[in-house]
Amino acid sequence: MTSSTLHDFLEPNLKALREQGLYNEIDSLQGPNGAEIEINGKQLINLSSNNYLGFSNDARLKKSCVEATEEFGVGAGAVRTINGTMTIHDELEKRIAEFKHTEAAIAFQSGFNCNMGAISAVMTKKDAIISDELNHASIIDGCRLSGAKVIRARHQDMDHLRELAKQATESGEYEKVMYISDGVFSMDGDVAKIPEIVEIAQEFGLITYIDDAHGSGVMGGGAGTVKHFGLSDKIDFQIGTLSKAIGVVGGYVAGSRELIDWLKVRARPFLFSTSLTPGSAAACITAFDLMEKEPGTINKLWENGTYLKTGLKELGFDIGHSETPITPCIIGDENLTQKFSRRLLEEGVYAKSIVFPTVPKGTGRVRNMPTAAHTKEMLDQVLAIYEKVGKELGVIS
Ligand SMILES: *Cc1c(COP(=O)(O)O)cnc(C)c1O
Repeated sequence: MTSSTLHDFLEPNLKALREQGLYNEIDSLQGPNGAEIEINGKQLINLSSNNYLGFSNDARLKKSCVEATEEFGVGAGAVRTINGTMTIHDELEKRIAEFKHTEAAIAFQSGFNCNMGAISAVMTKKDAIISDELNHASIIDGCRLSGAKVIRARHQDMDHLRELAKQATESGEYEKVMYISDGVFSMDGDVAKIPEIVEIAQEFGLITYIDDAHGSGVMGGGAGTVKHFGLSDKIDFQIGTLSKAIGVVGGYVAGSRELIDWLKVRARPFLFSTSLTPGSAAACITAFDLMEKEPGTINKLWENGTYLKTGLKELGFDIGHSETPITPCIIGDENLTQKFSRRLLEEGVYAKSIVFPTVPKGTGRVRNMPTAAHTKEMLDQVLAIYEKVGKELGVIS
């Protein structure tokens, strides 16, 4: 008897996905991921990127990237702990810590990598992690990798968190207990209740870990959700990405000198995967400089977010309870949501549908990500198209 072949596994599973319409076909952009994009020769207004500040195609970031590439080369040549640490990486980490108001910072090749490395560098199978049920996939995987007991907390339910924290700490079963949450939840745009989290963490001695991938460059003047609440010294791990608002690629932990010293010898992607490219590191430094020098860019992002939200609401759409520029337009039924998104695309708006199992059944939505790079005219055009498609499909009257 032999085991089944790879083909025996792939063929029926691919077929099933395609038949159920669940096989995701990927659209390739014919240029930068800006406020407008081109796909298959068609010009579209883009409401699906995480390029919040328009930095991914900013001339100044590109210039820094090219200059650092000329100076240091295209690749770092080794992992950080062998000899893949260049002065540009040190400079980036110093810049991040300064910007986040923490003692130190460590940069990773991606936000995903960062969660895979940072959680398991500190948490072990003797520990427990209380994790918000809507946390990002990379947090879920990072928790699993650590071997710690994972305890699911109801989304943003602080009474539940308190109860779980009490149980976990009083049981005496665990050496350490950590609480992990997204800073800004990407599906609904709601913001973690940092002041209450800090209070509960202090009461029960929890380690705190906030992954602010969607809050960095957006909240707190760019410094993130924790800074927004003025609690930078009260959260142990502040995670950010360099791939969303910062516009490039990478992730980081900002925290105490002691924590960063530890991660630099224990976070496995830092030890066993080649460093960020010098060009990327340099472009990120420029992004931090620009957020400080030109606060108008972040203001524009928020203005655009408010403009789009107000417009959609006035048209009669259900836009949920977002507290950030992320603007869900909740359609409900899964098929209708997908049809809505397809019709938007035909009319010239690229906004992806997000349905079960990514969000609960019956809450299918088109998620709109306005950026600082969108103009009023583009957003007016978006609203006109939403009105047309909404009426056509009977979502609004
Ligand atoms: C996007 C995201 C990540 C992954 O970041 P990348 O830099 O794209 O790998 C991690 N955590 C959260 C909460 C995210 O939203």
